[in-house]
Amino acid sequence: MTQYDLAVLGGGPGGYVAALRAAQLGAQVVVVEQDRVGGTCLNIGCIPTKVLTTSTELLLKINQAQAFGITTTHAAADLPALMDYKRTTVDTLVNGVEQLLKQWSITLVRGSGYVIRPNALRVTHPTGDISEISVRHIILAPGSITAPPPISGSDLPGVITSTEALEITEIPARLLVIGGGVIGLEFACIHEALGSQVTILEMMPTLLPNATDEALAKRLALLLRRRGMKIHTDVKVQVIESIGKTLCVTYANTAKEERIEADRVLIAVGRLPNTQGIGLKELGLKLNGLAIAVDETLATNLPNVWAIGDAVGGMMLAHKAMVEGRVVAENVTGSQRKVDYRSVPNVIFTRPEIASVGLTEREAREQGADIRITQFPFSANPRARILGETDGIVKLVCEADSGRILGVHLMGPHATDLIAEGALAVQMGATADDLAWTTHAHPTLPESMLEAALGFRDATLHFHTR
Ligand code: NAD
Repeated sequence: MTQYDLAVLGGGPGGYVAALRAAQLGAQVVVVEQDRVGGTCLNIGCIPTKVLTTSTELLLKINQAQAFGITTTHAAADLPALMDYKRTTVDTLVNGVEQLLKQWSITLVRGSGYVIRPNALRVTHPTGDISEISVRHIILAPGSITAPPPISGSDLPGVITSTEALEITEIPARLLVIGGGVIGLEFACIHEALGSQVTILEMMPTLLPNATDEALAKRLALLLRRRGMKIHTDVKVQVIESIGKTLCVTYANTAKEERIEADRVLIAVGRLPNTQGIGLKELGLKLNGLAIAVDETLATNLPNVWAIGDAVGGMMLAHKAMVEGRVVAENVTGSQRKVDYRSVPNVIFTRPEIASVGLTEREAREQGADIRITQFPFSANPRARILGETDGIVKLVCEADSGRILGVHLMGPHATDLIAEGALAVQMGATADDLAWTTHAHPTLPESMLEAALGFRDATLHFHTR
């Protein structure tokens, strides 16, 4: 039996990054993965949804070409070609990760892993064969699974999860989305662009609860409604029934019970840590609910057993898992690094995009911070105007006396890219003045960050409210 320094259970963004970094640091590493490397993110999450987002945005843009001085004929989605593009993109990236593992001499074992001891894993291979791997350290990175929908009728044909929603073979005339969180809203925007009439049912009072600043979530709801989406918040979905080919969803708000018909129902009500059936309970590993309990170095309660990614709870984001992967790899190989979540951004690929990092206005106030909010609208940014994407704002949450940036919240064109500057500002403890005295190229979208920062000293140049 080969003796490894490290076994990583799960080859998603957390697991494969941990494996690469540990190999860079000299460890002999094995990754155990039951499916394709890349996990949910690469295979059925971030990457394929962003392919659909990008293509459907292109579709909308082409059909708005006249406004940009270009003549075209009417564009339409070619669903089989779109699915091919998605598959090819995913396959290329999965293949890229496999190549990286190979280049770092990391062994990839295909099969389902089960921890039998803190220093040994049992693997059941696709052939049914069973083998054992002996290791010095184990990193648990088994990810998350779709939360089972707590709604009667969720097993009816036509009721789908985000995984099935990625395979679009026809465009439903009426899509009903249960859950106005990140997944629900991203698919809502994709289907809206394809021509579906979209309705969203959300049980909390606003969309995107806890994912961004409340003001931005409210503004997004307003924009989506203006475009024709139906959004019902503060509702409790009671039952889904089928009447012929139509799905009928009953929900209740504070006043009354309502029924709505749809051709397809997407359930997107969250994900849960995937920690069952891999030997953790039998091993005596401490869990917080379903999440693996870890300390700041990502160590579990068992010696030489570590855990990262969605399985440890917190923000279920690929980039949060990746940073944990880097931290844990250093700790496995002898460092004592603590994971730092201050600059983990939340990015939401709606139309317009939303991105947030650091404290929201509400969180800052709840923590008793004396804050000053400064904002700048994309409608006053030349680049946004050229792009024809002027909906949205930059909102900075700053410490009132020092101007230290506690949070950055964006809604607008390329917000998911622009947040990188906000993440750096939060991570480095930068002030509004630091941003304001950083020269931003013209004409670019990041100038909106500069202008919002200037607002801290009432010095915004390209917008006035008088
Ligand atoms: P989520 O927690 O973001 O949203 C679920 C939503 O469903 C919440 O708003 C919740 O209030 C609502 N809800 C729950 N039960 C409900 C019910 N019975 N009826 C109506 N509404 C109900 O979860 P998600 O959208 O499923 O995403 C799962 C995870 O994946 C999240 O952690 C998310 O951050 C992550 N993710 C990230 C990205 C990204 O980074 N762009 C994209 C997709 C998913």
